[in-house]
Amino acid sequence: MYTANTERYENMKYNRCGRSGLQLPAISLGLWHNFGGNDVFENGRAMVRRAFDLGITHFDLANNYGPPAGSAEETFGSILKKDFQPYRDEMIISSKAGYYMWPGPYGEWGSRKYLVSSLDQSLKRMGLDYVDIFYHHRPDPNTPLEETMSALDHLVRQGKALYVGISNYRPEETRKAARILRELGTPCLIHQPNYSMMSRWIEDGLQDVLDEEGIGSIVFSPLQQGILTDRYLNGITSDSRAAGASVFLSEKQITDDTIGKVRRLNEIAEARGQKMSQLALSWVLRGGRVTSALIGASKVSQIEDAVGSLAAPELSAEELQKIEEILRA
Ligand code: NDP
Repeated sequence: MYTANTERYENMKYNRCGRSGLQLPAISLGLWHNFGGNDVFENGRAMVRRAFDLGITHFDLANNYGPPAGSAEETFGSILKKDFQPYRDEMIISSKAGYYMWPGPYGEWGSRKYLVSSLDQSLKRMGLDYVDIFYHHRPDPNTPLEETMSALDHLVRQGKALYVGISNYRPEETRKAARILRELGTPCLIHQPNYSMMSRWIEDGLQDVLDEEGIGSIVFSPLQQGILTDRYLNGITSDSRAAGASVFLSEKQITDDTIGKVRRLNEIAEARGQKMSQLALSWVLRGGRVTSALIGASKVSQIEDAVGSLAAPELSAEELQKIEEILRA
């Protein structure tokens, strides 16, 4: 029997999401890896519990998370059923559709047919009546944006989603999607792009569009899938993502050049009394332009590290300059 920590709201920071009424925790937890049917259920359950106890109210999923695809939503549904029934109104749960999910022409991309069916399936897997945020996961070059956005609007009107968002949309696509959604009467709440010290494309136009349109941002892989932590400073251990079955991070990406940079960044982290992972999170959240940093975790302690980053002071101009020099070298 799980009872949530009564002090769970004391140390987390909550940021307003764009020009909406919704506040999101500065750190959110994603269930892309480590919550699939092949992973240890009790480990996932312990991570969700610890996250919630630390004030992480937001849990991010998608139809295809697993493996196998769909199984992360099933795992999360079981955790909700066992532990979180009294807490549903304190949680922001998101899902997405856009990537390949089932065979045939209606199992991926951006048609109304696919989005509506996919959210119905996600709700069943999680045992929910509604998600808080439903995203279109990636732009579809072959479906009119009006159709995709009107499917999102439709799902809100049906009560199956409270808010909608987009993910991986470029600046101009974002502006167009925001305009269509505004005209439909369902504002675009949030954009989910990737962003880290080593992946900075959103600085080149997207962040300006989001500010102008009043859209919040939740940035995925802020730790560059673990590269921006102390994980790989002493080689590649067998329990790491790079050594595991994930097709998204391989040992080839852990190069000497990259780790050399992380080592130098880690010196800055240590001088601030932070871990490398904590510096990486302080950096994406610097200046308040990002609503939430969306981390992944394979262990409870990684979630504790992430939330611990919020206790550190803002990065100084001098520290930011040193970081730029290392990243540019
Ligand atoms: P991160 O960059 O936060 O990487 C998480 C991984 O880093 C962990 O699984 C762990 O890997 C390692 N790690 C985390 N904390 C520490 C620590 N303190 N010390 C050492 N290693 C650490 O994010 P993800 O790539 O996992 O993505 C986060 C979420 O973003 C996803 O769950 C998903 O919700 C979302 N996402 C969205 C996408 C989209 O297209 N919209 C695409 C990708 C992700 P290890 O296993 O090695 O321990």
